Amino acid sequence: MRTNRTFTMLKPDSVEKGHVGAILEKINAAGFRIVAMKLTQMTTADAKAFYAIHKERPFFGELVEYMTRGPIVAAILEKDNAVEDFRTLIGATNPADAAEGTIRKLYAASIGENAVHGSDSDENAAIEGAFHFSGREMF
Ligand code: UDP
Ligand code: MG
Repeated sequence: MRTNRTFTMLKPDSVEKGHVGAILEKINAAGFRIVAMKLTQMTTADAKAFYAIHKERPFFGELVEYMTRGPIVAAILEKDNAVEDFRTLIGATNPADAAEGTIRKLYAASIGENAVHGSDSDENAAIEGAFHFSGREMF
């Protein structure tokens, strides 16, 4: 398994508010290489499958509604220690708890609408990347 890649989504709120360019600049400035990237929209079935680990949580229905309401930017990113470094770059799930200068501190509205996704492990990075991209879309 590759351990130098992570998977991200710039969530519908980031696209709606025109924050895609600014967020990509921060990702670039932090030293990540873009391996794959596209504008896409998840179906309800996609979002339920992608977030299946959260299906018993009280926020699951809202999460699926949010993540399917408009297009996202999905991307695979490469850097040494990619998963951990990207989680540091995006900040805590709740922007109220996110460190200054992090993407969620700057661009997230709430714990639900929190601008970006970042994989939480190398194993999930590989699963999530393969959920959105075929091998011939990765460079
Ligand atoms: N979420 C939410 N309410 C919560 C926790 C999470 O709406 O109390 C949403 C939020 O969009 C979050 C996603 O569910 O990004 C996945 O939750 P997780 O705990 O995996 O947070 P993350 O890994 O995205 O920081
Ligand atoms: Mg998570």
